[in-house]
Amino acid sequence: MAKAEVSLEHLFRVFTKPEHSDSTLAKIERHLSDNISDFLSQHVVTKKTSLEEIEKDFSSASVPDSPEFVSEHAESLLNKLVAHSVNTYSPTFIGHMTSALPYFHLTLAKLLVGLNQNLVKIETSKAFTPLERQTLGMMHNLIYQQDDKFYEDYLHSADHALGSFCSGGTVANITALWIARNQLLGADGKFPGVAKAGLAAAYRHYGYENIGVMSSNRGHYSLSKTVDVLGIGRDNMLTVQSPTQKLDPQQALKLGKAYQESGNKLLAIIGIAGTTETGHVDPLDELADVAKELNCWFHVDAAWGGATLFSERYRSKLAGIERADSVSIDAHKQMYVPMGAGMALFKDPKHSNAVRHHAQYVLREGSKDLGATTLEGSRNGMAMMVYSSLHILGRRGYELLINKSIELAFEFAEMINVHPEFELTTQPTLSLLTYRLRPFSLSQLAGMPASDITNINNRLNSLTVSVQKQQREAGKSFVSRTRIEIEKYNGEAITVFRVVLANPLTTKEHLSDILQEQLTIANNNRIWNELSVNPTSKIA
Ligand SMILES: *Cc1c(COP(=O)(O)O)cnc(C)c1O
Repeated sequence: MAKAEVSLEHLFRVFTKPEHSDSTLAKIERHLSDNISDFLSQHVVTKKTSLEEIEKDFSSASVPDSPEFVSEHAESLLNKLVAHSVNTYSPTFIGHMTSALPYFHLTLAKLLVGLNQNLVKIETSKAFTPLERQTLGMMHNLIYQQDDKFYEDYLHSADHALGSFCSGGTVANITALWIARNQLLGADGKFPGVAKAGLAAAYRHYGYENIGVMSSNRGHYSLSKTVDVLGIGRDNMLTVQSPTQKLDPQQALKLGKAYQESGNKLLAIIGIAGTTETGHVDPLDELADVAKELNCWFHVDAAWGGATLFSERYRSKLAGIERADSVSIDAHKQMYVPMGAGMALFKDPKHSNAVRHHAQYVLREGSKDLGATTLEGSRNGMAMMVYSSLHILGRRGYELLINKSIELAFEFAEMINVHPEFELTTQPTLSLLTYRLRPFSLSQLAGMPASDITNINNRLNSLTVSVQKQQREAGKSFVSRTRIEIEKYNGEAITVFRVVLANPLTTKEHLSDILQEQLTIANNNRIWNELSVNPTSKIA
């Protein structure tokens, strides 16, 4: 490969001069703009190359000594990276929350990188700052629906924040509970507050043994990272076993009271609006009552399901979300924005002051620098992608997309229900469902003796794992798998296929083909064939 010269002159060119119009770089750019999914084949994974094979292309740990031509480097990216990437745009890629994006993002992304604004402070972002604040205001409005005066007062106020834009749901959850923590353990008399004095002093001052956070065991793992980072500790993450997939308010109240009666303080109850595994929505309104009774913060993790609020038809599934002190929403999930777009929204615009930081060279007091209340420092202008999507698709466009996904999930559930060899393991609430292969001979499994149920479930679990892997490796489609407790199997955890329907181009035919493919794989599986013939045989 020809090496580019090592000279400042050459480097200046890299900074200033676009390559000529028929360079590889320019061709790639045109090709990308024309049709990005051309780079990936019709399949979900283009080549059947193992991860170990691919690792060989990325095996050197030395920094390349000499520069490469950009066009040649781009060529190598095509071969090593793009060719082996996962086609998240495929309509048969239905296993995860990452899906196809509208094409306009490709063009707009150039603006983002081209301008390279830093939202940490006004001096490096100017117009992007009010744009981000307006975007947060729109999302706040979607949840809390305050009057015009409220938004006039707070949208651009230097002393308030309607929310915090960040890289994703994880940081949004940490931000929300960081505020909750600093609010609970705030300054009081001579005590300067936890932000200054630290947790040990705060517990001593307030007389708390510990503070804790409660959610169902379906809570996203970012919650356990959150209690870790905030110094609360994973032992104080109260996870409630929930075989119905939803946090039971009665149980939450009982557990919260018991926790507080033994010298602790419950910091927050987390309601989940669309669990990552099954898409269930906790009873938010009742959990808001419980939080009120326990006098604690109420946070709703709507990272995935929050976009349901765009739909007049389905927004009532999230009823009670408007009572949350804070809400997390990921725009990079059901809002079809590229990754790196999360938001924490705050009911009370003053609350963000609990984490406000000032510094001399940036974030001066009274400034509108967003960095004063965000966890992250330097941040790009991703809010523009959300802002643009909200304009280009509009609430009604989003509504159509959300409705379509939910309705397709119900249609898929029905296809599974009427199929003799499949079992729907969780009904969709939103556009997510779980199911598994189960021979017709076992359609009465739930009525069998407990030991038979366990034995058969264990074998079905191995079957599910094996079919899921083979389907993934075949590369035509992708369905994920997870383990969930099922009420009718005495709360036993079973392995299931998990499907997230987000790509508007996925059709019923795609779904029917996916079921057929799974059945064909199963027909060559020993466990499947044994169970089909003799369901209660104990052969392992
Ligand atoms: C995806 C998700 C998160 C984490 O969001 P990231 O953007 O991956 O950091 C948190 N909670 C729920 C419910 C989610 O679905």
